[in-house]
Amino acid sequence: MSDDVDRAQLREEEFLSDALARQQRRGLAAGLPAAEFCGEHLQGAGCGEAIPPARRAAVPGCQLCVACQGRSERVQGGRRA
Ligand SMILES: [Zn+2]
Repeated sequence: MSDDVDRAQLREEEFLSDALARQQRRGLAAGLPAAEFCGEHLQGAGCGEAIPPARRAAVPGCQLCVACQGRSERVQGGRRA
């Protein structure tokens, strides 16, 4: 009984991860990694400029360009003594 459910769930997970992998492959093929533009996924942050590939490679998952990252760090850490 529950085996069927487990199998169905497993199939669904495989399907989802397959779809995700396909999507990522397509994105990479088109030269469009996940976070490419400064602040793209952050509301009200970032200048929208493209983040240099070297920076994305050095800081995986970074969402801000160097200038905006520095600005946001200064704002967040501004009160450090
Ligand atoms: Zn920026």
